[in-house]
Amino acid sequence: MSSKIQKIFQSFKERLPSQSYSPQKTKVIDAICKCRTPEMGGFVQRCDDCGYTEAHFNSCRNRHCPVCQGSNQRKWVEKQVANTLPIPYFHVVFTVPAELNPLFLANPDNMFNLLFRAASQTVLTLSENEKFLGAQPGFIAVLHTWGRNIQFHPHLHCIVTGGGLSSDRKRFVVSKDSFFLPLKAISIVFRGKFLEELKTFFVNNTLQLTEGLDTVQKRQQFLDLLYSKDWVCYCKKPFKDASAVIRYLGRYTHKVAISDSRIVSHNPDTQTVRFHWKDYKDHNKIKIMQLSEDEFVRRFLLHVLPKGFMKIRHYGLLANRGREERLELCRDLLKATAPTGVIQEFPKCKVEPLDRCPKCGSQSFLLVPRSLYAQPALLPTGTGP
Ligand SMILES: [Zn+2]
Ligand SMILES: [Zn+2]
Ligand SMILES: [Zn+2]
Repeated sequence: MSSKIQKIFQSFKERLPSQSYSPQKTKVIDAICKCRTPEMGGFVQRCDDCGYTEAHFNSCRNRHCPVCQGSNQRKWVEKQVANTLPIPYFHVVFTVPAELNPLFLANPDNMFNLLFRAASQTVLTLSENEKFLGAQPGFIAVLHTWGRNIQFHPHLHCIVTGGGLSSDRKRFVVSKDSFFLPLKAISIVFRGKFLEELKTFFVNNTLQLTEGLDTVQKRQQFLDLLYSKDWVCYCKKPFKDASAVIRYLGRYTHKVAISDSRIVSHNPDTQTVRFHWKDYKDHNKIKIMQLSEDEFVRRFLLHVLPKGFMKIRHYGLLANRGREERLELCRDLLKATAPTGVIQEFPKCKVEPLDRCPKCGSQSFLLVPRSLYAQPALLPTGTGP
């Protein structure tokens, strides 16, 4: 299946004045346009008997590419299986007030790191408190930067073990039914930690400042305004066991801002794109939004992360250093064995030519010379690695 989003980008690129976007974003546009086309290398096979044609072209492997986003995730998800415990997991989401968006866009590295730090310290500090859990849980934090209409809406999904290791490391404290931290407390502590560090950023001139923040007084007013707001943290449906977590990670962690299935139509003549979106403010109604190609691409590119930025991080019990030893201890305490099993839902990365036609079984399923399919417009549809 060829990708609708790829077609939008290809149509956009044909008209694109080259200086419009940063070098990094230009690279992403390029990668998406070329992904799984003859430009990336690969092969086409055609059946001499029934005419069936199949194309396999290489993926661009750019992590922002909606065409091949699945190709790197198989290994990663398989690795996560080894890190699970046989307990339920909770799912809490941290959001920030929209007033912070311009600062995030102008300082992605610093601001996204701040979001990770404030949220993770909030969960770890509150969990230590005897009033709540009195133990150290483990969690995976995943950064999303988009809302339903592809606008910029940075937030963090945290998948938290339903319990944790006591500080004397002699007990695993299990929390079965509901999330062990009250959302009100999470929201207040998170806001406090975030804004304390933002203030330090201001004092140390760490950030590229955005409109309306050019004086000390204005920055203080901005902080006051942010302190006066309720910061929204909410729980999503918990995972009943580790395999549900793995399914979730497999499906969502490597997603990009919008998937092909949400594109309703694309008209290259009028340069418009229509897509589905869910309006949370209107009873979760599914609506259709129409944007110009340019605006669609602009919004999509808002979600390009800084080069090498880690959008998935592990904390507490699951923090990278000493993780195996801690998990072994937890399994001993829970009287559990290490999980095994491989996930089979993901497509293989490498594809070899077939020796028979999958349609009619004929052995004349032959490689088509590159000169015959080198123009993307003449391409048969097919899948790639
Ligand atoms: Zn055939
Ligand atoms: Zn790709
Ligand atoms: Zn999200």
